[in-house]
Amino acid sequence: MKRIVFISFLLIISVGLLILSFVLGGEDDGLKGTSVALTTTTTTTDGSITTTTEGVDSMPASEIDNLWAFYLVNQMNPLPPDFEIETAIIHDDREVDKRIAPYLVEMLASAKADGIYLKVQSAYRSVEYQQMLHEISIENFMKDAGMTEEEAIAATERELALPGTSEHNAGLAVDLNSRDSWELTESFEETDEFAWLQENCFKFGFILRYPKDKVDVTGIIYEPWHYRFIGVHHATQLMESGLCLEEYIEKIPPTE
Ligand SMILES: [Zn+2]
Repeated sequence: MKRIVFISFLLIISVGLLILSFVLGGEDDGLKGTSVALTTTTTTTDGSITTTTEGVDSMPASEIDNLWAFYLVNQMNPLPPDFEIETAIIHDDREVDKRIAPYLVEMLASAKADGIYLKVQSAYRSVEYQQMLHEISIENFMKDAGMTEEEAIAATERELALPGTSEHNAGLAVDLNSRDSWELTESFEETDEFAWLQENCFKFGFILRYPKDKVDVTGIIYEPWHYRFIGVHHATQLMESGLCLEEYIEKIPPTE
């Protein structure tokens, strides 16, 4: 009996070591050579913030993953007033919903392994920050372009989602850019970085959210830099379908 217990003990230890060596030594973890500080921050509506540091979870292998992220945020579908978010810092002060951080980190690492250096230029923005961006934009249009307030508001709303209606407020979107570029312009579509994203973003659950031929449907200008997380399953289907998220969700409504 003692012998059986001892053998079982050894077996458990060996399996444990095997799993550990696989986790530590797996050559396919895609994260080698990246220095990613992942910090979790919880922001609640009362503005209080708590911070803890955690490791990177791995991407789940389930077929239909992350259904929680499969919903619309747009002019017609604002975030609820009691929206709460738990974020993780990717690098610098760029934060996203904690649950999509592993996917984003893995996508950046995978791009890097292919010699593509992507920069997260913009990520999660609080509703208050979005409000401030709006006010600055309206002011600039009036001052620099000589627009009336009404025109400036309309021009701003064409370029910038209303506070609470931006996917950046939901923590599910990132604006990606080339490492050495700071401007987000349509010319990003001519870069190797954009080409890589078209080939690969859906494998990590991200979609090109505002395509060139869907401006009428999305109501947002063509943004080759804006990527939205909806989970690997739906991202793969959507990118294959050529539909934008509004059209895709109409065909395949989220199931609760
Ligand atoms: Zn964006």
